[in-house]
Amino acid sequence: MSNIPYIVGNWKMNGARSMLSEARAIDRAAARFPKVQVALAPPATLISAMREAVQDIGVGGQDCHAEVSGAFTGDISAAMLVDAGADFTIVGHSERRAMHGESDAVVRSKAEAAQAAGLSVILCVGETEAQRDTGKAEEVVAKQLKGSLPRGEAAAAQLAVAYEPVWAIGTGRVPSVKDVRTVHKSIRAQLVAAYGEAGSDVRILYGGSVNADNAAKLMAVDEVGGALVGGASLTADGFTAIIGAAGLADEA
Ligand code: PEP
Repeated sequence: MSNIPYIVGNWKMNGARSMLSEARAIDRAAARFPKVQVALAPPATLISAMREAVQDIGVGGQDCHAEVSGAFTGDISAAMLVDAGADFTIVGHSERRAMHGESDAVVRSKAEAAQAAGLSVILCVGETEAQRDTGKAEEVVAKQLKGSLPRGEAAAAQLAVAYEPVWAIGTGRVPSVKDVRTVHKSIRAQLVAAYGEAGSDVRILYGGSVNADNAAKLMAVDEVGGALVGGASLTADGFTAIIGAAGLADEA
């Protein structure tokens, strides 16, 4: 697995040009931690301006359509994200799966389209609270991966997987270290089964209520290769603390 932690902020449907100052401050902070890979996924309206505003961090989309172009009102293709300056995209976020009815097959087609367009992909998976409570977390995540991992020989090279328990997103609740370790280990086994040796190098991010207080603990868990961060990535102060925690965990 790459030793460099990958810390990604997902701004969701938040942010206007006035927030580019936060992105610039995050960019300056990231430059102080060269052993941490940092990226932001702003709303699509900001990708181009953010790309021009920052130097040291990646800029990406939060979703893309599986087709290259066509009559898909309101959607954005992977090629359009590239054209706007994105270098990666998130796919399969639980909010897309739940609110837009995205199946594993749809998520896979988006991931494959994104990689074909030259983007790297952060593929999100995670169980609901009811699934966790009935002991099905690993089974659910395994099924999501089986159905949505991009196929092809080179797929693993441009891929990160984000384990995001749905019940931890935006709630302030996080799973125990033991539970994070268990799920990440089982994701690793599945990545190796899918991609062979290349599966060992895919970073597995943890996401769900990561903040300045819990980041160091989470980043130190086996097989946690970074974090996908929502709320705490909206301000430079909050996000920089997480980048710093990842940097220190990497040195430890
Ligand atoms: C997310 O939505 O990807 C996320 C992790 O959100 P938060 O950090 O706000 O829980």
